Amino acid sequence: MKKILIGTHNSGKFKELSFLLSNKIKKISPQTLRIKSPRETGKTFPANAKLKAKYFAKYTNLPVISDDSGLCIKSLKNKPGIYSARWAKKYGNFDKAMKFILKKMAKKKDRSATFVCSLALKLQKKKVISVTGKVKGLISFKIKGKKGFGYDPIFIPNKKLITFGQMKKDKKIRMDHRYIAFKKLKKKIKIL
Ligand code: IMP
Repeated sequence: MKKILIGTHNSGKFKELSFLLSNKIKKISPQTLRIKSPRETGKTFPANAKLKAKYFAKYTNLPVISDDSGLCIKSLKNKPGIYSARWAKKYGNFDKAMKFILKKMAKKKDRSATFVCSLALKLQKKKVISVTGKVKGLISFKIKGKKGFGYDPIFIPNKKLITFGQMKKDKKIRMDHRYIAFKKLKKKIKIL
């Protein structure tokens, strides 16, 4: 494989997936090809990841990898979940969405949460395949750290004392939900 389209307009995801993919593969973004994002009409992470991969594959002959991911908070009935990006829009931005979450969590005893990532890969003339990775942790009491993206500053992975937002980028990338999903995908498709 010489080139791959990373089907996302999210620069945080694009950087992480670029880092994980072989450095022999040239990574192309939908912006370069002027392709917009599809509407996420799926009800699950794998459904949305597959929907994105198939959508982007319609516009290019390149192999496509896409991601649908989000933060599931147990005491908020696993929300925002697939609506993680949409909550940021709804409340104004990620900082406001995180503040909203911390306020909602103020009286909750259970602060457990899971970051989930489904990756889908569409190779030319092949059926789309998908895998899911999860990382468990806790929601912090404060927004901490300026590294990373999205909800990183409020998520403390299990067995760690700092948020993803406080962690060195390559450390976070090598332990998160996307990494776990990617490892599963690589077992199936070795050329990645
Ligand atoms: P979507 O997959 O395009 O629906 O967007 C998923 C959203 O979940 C992102 O915009 C982020 O807000 C959040 N998210 C997914 N993965 C991560 C991560 O690794 N760190 C922080 N936030 C994430």
